[in-house]
Amino acid sequence: MSLLELLHTVPGAFVVACLILGLMVGSFLNVVIHRLPKMMELAWAQQCAELRAEEPISTPPYNLITPRSACPHCNHAISAWENIPLVSYLLLRGKCKGCSARISPRYPIIEAISGILCAFAAWHFGFGLAAVGALLLIWALLALTAIDFDTQLLPDDITLPLLWTGLLFNLFGVFTNLPSAVVGAVVGYLALWCVYWLFKLLTGKEGMGYGDFKLLAALGAWLGWQMLPLIILLSSLVGAVVGITLIVALKHGRNIPIPFGPYLAGGGLIALFWGQTLTQSYLRLLAVQ
Ligand SMILES: [Zn+2]
Repeated sequence: MSLLELLHTVPGAFVVACLILGLMVGSFLNVVIHRLPKMMELAWAQQCAELRAEEPISTPPYNLITPRSACPHCNHAISAWENIPLVSYLLLRGKCKGCSARISPRYPIIEAISGILCAFAAWHFGFGLAAVGALLLIWALLALTAIDFDTQLLPDDITLPLLWTGLLFNLFGVFTNLPSAVVGAVVGYLALWCVYWLFKLLTGKEGMGYGDFKLLAALGAWLGWQMLPLIILLSSLVGAVVGITLIVALKHGRNIPIPFGPYLAGGGLIALFWGQTLTQSYLRLLAVQ
């Protein structure tokens, strides 16, 4: 039996395979979340130097692969066995082997979320292209959520490829038909662009960033324009609840930007799994009245 046949025919094999893959990619996502914003800052600094006709800044190579992962406190290089998703964190009891400094619980949490969501997607969609697409979407949304949370940035390096990939999948009608996907991408961008300018004209403040428009455009490309109202509704609801809680509970200043990306990503994930069911039930509700 080939591996593909095994994944296809043995119940649970595909779910377990996606769980393990999700944990491993989750470990890589931690690297992306940590390094991509720093890589962007370096690139901006280089561009500024170039514009001012200064000497280019010389730095050691810094990308997703080099340098190797090391403890930020003692520079202890992290070996392969210290890099096994979840397992290593538990074996090391959350401490660096070199200097016993605490390792942020965020790393295993991101790995676990990635693993669980991937296993759920495998179970929900079953063996096939839809599950492959769901995994890619989950990974991109996880990375974007964490980066937006840390830096209030949604890197083009993730949002734009995500948009193209969504269109590609729907070229084969995996999640919706191609016209719905194309309209979804355009309307997704324009919807938030309009909200942004209305808010800016009314209050003189910037409520969200261009990254948010691109993220909603990408979600429209993946799920079709029909899902946009649901995504906006879900993300605004959760965003409002969390935002008000933060302002009240932590006296979080009203003018401190609260990233909107994580809520869009959350709304997108809910729409990926339950969008059809949710929109059908509220359309039925409208039809009854
Ligand atoms: Zn250390």
